Amino acid sequence: MVSRVIPVDPFDLVIFGGTGDLARRKILPGLFRRYCAGQMPPESRIIGAARSDFDDADYQEFVAEAIREFGGGRACEDGTLEAFLERLSYVPVDARGEAGWTELAALISGSTLVRAFYFSVGPSLFGDLAERLHQHGMADEHCRIVVEKPFGRDLKTAEALNATLAEHFDESQIYRIDHYLGKETVQNLMAVRFGNLLFEPLWNSQYVDHIQITVAESVGVGGRGEYYDKSGAMRDMVQNHLMQLLCLIAMEPPSKFDPGAVRDEKLKVIRALDPVEPHHIVRGQYSASDDGPGYRDAVGDPRSTTESFVAMKVGISNWRWAGTPFYLRTGKRMVDRCSEITVVFKARNHSIFDEVQGQHRNVLTIRLQPNEGITLGVTIKEPGPGGMRLIDVPLDMSFAEALGEDGGDPPDAYERLIMDVIRGNQTLFMRGDEVEAAWAWTDPIIEGWNKRGDVPKPYDSASTGPGDSDQMLARDGRTWRPVSP
Ligand code: NAP
Repeated sequence: MVSRVIPVDPFDLVIFGGTGDLARRKILPGLFRRYCAGQMPPESRIIGAARSDFDDADYQEFVAEAIREFGGGRACEDGTLEAFLERLSYVPVDARGEAGWTELAALISGSTLVRAFYFSVGPSLFGDLAERLHQHGMADEHCRIVVEKPFGRDLKTAEALNATLAEHFDESQIYRIDHYLGKETVQNLMAVRFGNLLFEPLWNSQYVDHIQITVAESVGVGGRGEYYDKSGAMRDMVQNHLMQLLCLIAMEPPSKFDPGAVRDEKLKVIRALDPVEPHHIVRGQYSASDDGPGYRDAVGDPRSTTESFVAMKVGISNWRWAGTPFYLRTGKRMVDRCSEITVVFKARNHSIFDEVQGQHRNVLTIRLQPNEGITLGVTIKEPGPGGMRLIDVPLDMSFAEALGEDGGDPPDAYERLIMDVIRGNQTLFMRGDEVEAAWAWTDPIIEGWNKRGDVPKPYDSASTGPGDSDQMLARDGRTWRPVSP
């Protein structure tokens, strides 16, 4: 199937932090791929803005290198890259000073194109950027701003950040990115739930035994040690990515697929989350191995108590989910890189077959990475003679196979989300009250650790985390799904 490309309106996109790591690895290569797909109208412009002393030609060379390295091997030879680079310019700008603002304003003033500002800088600069855009007349009511994670480090800082942005922008102009929401499978999760009659009647505690959400990384903290040690798995992954996935799995059907309705339902889920008991959380820190240093060495603090792994059992107190546990798990230096959501249905209450009761269950697996796709495990008769023996087989929908026949990969999460910003569609972005509610649930967990002086359990690199995580599920008579791609 050839995927359809729906053009967006012409736009001016200013990337603050246009020389940074995120711009280089994700934003600019993503924009190039959208250009190659024919989604970028000819008048559109991309303007890099940072303190580095580049001119347009320097910046174009910088972007060309980024695309050669991270662009996914697309049409760099046939002049396409050069044509894309012509859309790019650069203005040296200091978020904390006067340099560059008049030039930037002159460049985009008078343009009637959709105007978006991507804040791809540290959050401490968000307020400065908002203020300067306002001072220089660029923050009109039609523009949009895109802000990156982390959005605060607790409720207080998130509220302060929301208040700062609200001084100059309406909520309808603020796009808080969580790139997990831009993944094809995550959106397909909503299509599967709400586009089929099959699943929704079973999507509740009467039929669902439990749900697992695993986001496992095989890499360690790498060069991000200093940043990561101030954050940890709870702040870096659970409060945002895992929470968003949990919301999409657990939310009530919105009355329609629009930003307000979807985000209202997600917010209700967060507000219905039970506080987490200390014995329902396991924290871990990876140990040294032949492949690399342990967590504490990697972050340069032999006494660090920041977690690189967290597993937890979460309850949702509402009519639909009371009694069905959600098990969340995320960690670094785990045995494989694998992100998936698994819905384990209950066993049939009576079997007419000769089988161990509960042995065969339907399991729906939504794979986010690698190999995005959805698999439904169903029970069938084992083929051949020998009586009625049951086996579980997967009904598999791999998106690479289903959507990749035009020879191209499905758009990366960043590409999709940036195009949504240009379209003015906030459905896949977090609203301010959602972010605050997520912190309000997360804060007491972290405060509890700090008060109790909790120390994370060590776990072997290339494992599935501390043994306590397995025991937490074993106490409930359950097991984690394998961490494998
Ligand atoms: P980075 O590599 O440190 O880049 C920071 C950018 O900000 C650079 O372009 C820097 O350019 C610019 N900058 C710094 N101070 C400035 C100032 N006073 N005025 C104007 N520009 C300034 O950081 P990053 O990894 O790209 O991350 C950017 C944001 O995305 C952060 O909020 C980060 O948490 C978030 N994020 C990053 C990733 C990732 O994979 N990298 C993933 C998720 C979220 P100059 O030095 O030239 O000024």
